[in-house]
Amino acid sequence: MSNAPRYASRIARMKASEIRELLKLIDRPEVISFAGGIPDPELFPAEAAREAYAAALRDPAVALQYGVSEGHAALRAWIAAEMRRDGVPAGPDNILITAGSQQGLDFLGKALLSPGDTVLCEYPTYLGALQAFSAYEPRYDQLRPGGNRTPASYIGRAAKAGGAVKALYLVPDFANPTGLTLGAGERADVLRLAEELGALVIEDAAYRALRFSGVASPSLQALDVAAAGDLERSRVVYLGTFSKTVAPGMRVGWVCAPAALIAKLTLLNQASALHVSSINQIAMLKLVERGYEARIADARTHYRRKREALLDALERYGRGLAWTIPEGGLFSWLTLPEGVDAAKLLERALSEVRVAFVPGAAFHPDGSGTNTLRLSYSLPTTERIEEGVWRLSRLL
Ligand code: PMP
Repeated sequence: MSNAPRYASRIARMKASEIRELLKLIDRPEVISFAGGIPDPELFPAEAAREAYAAALRDPAVALQYGVSEGHAALRAWIAAEMRRDGVPAGPDNILITAGSQQGLDFLGKALLSPGDTVLCEYPTYLGALQAFSAYEPRYDQLRPGGNRTPASYIGRAAKAGGAVKALYLVPDFANPTGLTLGAGERADVLRLAEELGALVIEDAAYRALRFSGVASPSLQALDVAAAGDLERSRVVYLGTFSKTVAPGMRVGWVCAPAALIAKLTLLNQASALHVSSINQIAMLKLVERGYEARIADARTHYRRKREALLDALERYGRGLAWTIPEGGLFSWLTLPEGVDAAKLLERALSEVRVAFVPGAAFHPDGSGTNTLRLSYSLPTTERIEEGVWRLSRLL
C-alpha cells in the first residue's frame, strides 16, 4: 500500500504555479526584474527598527511573553485612531492584529466560505487572495465594478450554479496587479451590489497609503459606514498592513470590522497561531509612533520616481502596447498585442534579454488574460527600469 498522505480535497486545488518556479531563477544580477511585487529594501528603517526592538526588550516580561489573540492593546488603539483619521469611527474592539493582511485573507476565507460558495472578484485580481480563499473551496465569479454609465455586475455563472455569493473581494486603491484605482462611482456601485446580494465586501487596502498623485477617494469602509450610520452595521471588512509602509518581514497587519466579526476572527487566530509575535507588535508600535507620516512620505517620493521612470520608458519604447497609469502603489499592467502569449514571452525574455515580469493569466481565476502582464517598478533602479523596458521592446 502506498504511504503517500491521503490529502483533504482542499489540497488538490493548491499547486505551486509554474510561473513561480520559473521566477525563482531570476535572482541573478544580469536579470532586470519587474516580477517581484515586494517593497524596496532601500526604504527599510533598519536603524529605527534596531532602536524599536531594543526599546521593546526593556520590558521582556511583555515582549517575550505570550499575548492576547486580539493583538497588543496599545497597537490596536493606535491603528483604530489611524482608521478614524481615514473616516472610519473604529475603536480597539474593531481591530484584530494579523500576521500581515495575508493572514486576514485566510481568516476571512475560513470564517465565510463553505465549499461551493461564491466569491466575486475582479479579473485580474491579487493572486495571494485567490490562494488564501481557494483552501476553502469556493467558486469565483468575475466582478465588474461598474462606474459612471454601467452598474456594478457580475457574470453570474458560478452563482447560478447554486453557490451563495458570500463576499466581494477588491483592492480598490492601486490594485495588485493592475495599478488601477476605483473611482467614486464604482465604489458606490460595488456597495450597492453587495447590499443587493447580502454579501460582505473585503476591502484589501494593502497599497492605500502609497498615493503619489490625484486625490484619495474615501475607503469602501468609510463610505459604507457613512451610509449605514455605524461601523457595527457596515458590511465592509478592511484589511490593512504595515508591509508596504514599514517592513513586510515584521508581519504585522490588521483587520478592521464590526466588533462581532472581530470576535469570531479572534477565535480563528487563537486556534491558528495564538497571536502575532509580541515583540514584533510592540516594535511596530514604537516604529509607527515615531514618524509614520515621514516614512510614508519617503515611500511615496521613492516609488513615484520609479513610476515616472517606467512610464517615461514605456512612452519612449512601448509602441503597440497599452499600459495602466498608476496613481500609487507598485504596479503597472501591460497589454500586449492580441495573440501574443505573455508566458511564452517570459521564457524568451529571460533567456534572450534577461528581463522578468509576471504573465497576467496567473491573476485570472479562469486563466484568461494571456496577452497581459504585470510590471512592478519597486525594485530596479530608475536606470535599470529604462534599460529593462528597452530590452523588452527589442524582443517584442
Ligand atoms: N494584499 C495585496 C493586494 C498584496 O499585494 C499583498 C502583498 N503582496 C498582500 C495583501 C499581503 O501582504 P502582507 O501580508 O504582507 O500584508
